[in-house]
Amino acid sequence: MDIGIDLGTANTLLYARGQGIVLNEPSVVAVQEGSRSALAVGTEAKETIGRTPGSITAIRPLRDGVISDYEAAEEMIRHFVRKAVKGRRPRTRMVVCVPSGVTPVERRAIVHASRSAGARAVHLIEEPMAAAIGAGLPVSSPRGSMVVDIGGGTTEVAVISLGGIVTAQSLRVGGDRLDAAITDFVRKEHSLLIGERTAEDVKVAIGSAWPVPGEEERERATFTVRGREKVSGLPKTLELTVAEVRAALDEPVEAIIAAVRATLEECPPELSGDVMEHGIVLTGGGALLPGLDLRIASASGIPVFVADDPLDCVVLGSGRCVEEFDSLHRVLGRAERVR
Ligand code: ADP
Ligand code: MG
Repeated sequence: MDIGIDLGTANTLLYARGQGIVLNEPSVVAVQEGSRSALAVGTEAKETIGRTPGSITAIRPLRDGVISDYEAAEEMIRHFVRKAVKGRRPRTRMVVCVPSGVTPVERRAIVHASRSAGARAVHLIEEPMAAAIGAGLPVSSPRGSMVVDIGGGTTEVAVISLGGIVTAQSLRVGGDRLDAAITDFVRKEHSLLIGERTAEDVKVAIGSAWPVPGEEERERATFTVRGREKVSGLPKTLELTVAEVRAALDEPVEAIIAAVRATLEECPPELSGDVMEHGIVLTGGGALLPGLDLRIASASGIPVFVADDPLDCVVLGSGRCVEEFDSLHRVLGRAERVR
């Protein structure tokens, strides 16, 4: 069986040739201190974040787009592949998407983990390339396409033409940083301490980057959070408004916009002309933040589109590669093949 893997900082997805997406779980491993063996992986492990007793740690092995914990990363890949393949046909070819910032050492670690999970051959493909393929952009044509993939730990901005990445930026700002900005805001402005899961809930419920025309109702929404008062240490609830949360998110959102600008500035003029004409495509979970498309469009003067199913683009791109192993030579040829 051939499989494509989106090894994301927040979520890992697997695609099986001929079947489609067969697994979609958080990239989290819960380990018992001392023993180093995984107690839970994926969805079950994410439930434990912020709730574990002292002796259990919930690890996100790829947190900031780099592998922070090799053993946990290997364990996670093995676990997911075994779960998806269920013991059948272990001699597997794999196309694994990795953040474009990973080092050669980390690439080796990912290849090693994939092989220990049963891969016979491993191709690594750069995340923005997979995202662009999955979003349906014409990556092999001479036309320049710009994709902005906003994941949990990183945002990858790339201009692609003729099957290759012409220019790219990888910044360590993504959904996690948006969550942290909410946590910081609530602590500074309201002296309330909230957990990272709560901050993510706030972002998904009422977060936005720009007012969305036609959704004025949304502007009046509020969200009640529970946390701990900084001074008294006692539990307290607080009602947050859409405007407050937007202000809290301003800094990381501006960082994403700055990366889009910098990539455009580095781009050869012919290709930036193509991007001006055809627009920028947003993928990854961060693309779901309401108004982010409008805000980037307003700052860059270029039309911006959110891909269909932005959370699935990368794994669908790697899935296209496993379905068309032979005809997608140009893309895979640039990826690393390790025997
Ligand atoms: P990665 O590829 O790094 O695993 P994903 O593309 O899976 O990341 O996106 C995960 C991120 O998207 C998380 O930070 C999550 O909070 C964020 N996200 C998911 N849904 C939404 C939403 N509706 N609004 C804003 N952010 C979202
Ligand atoms: Mg991703």
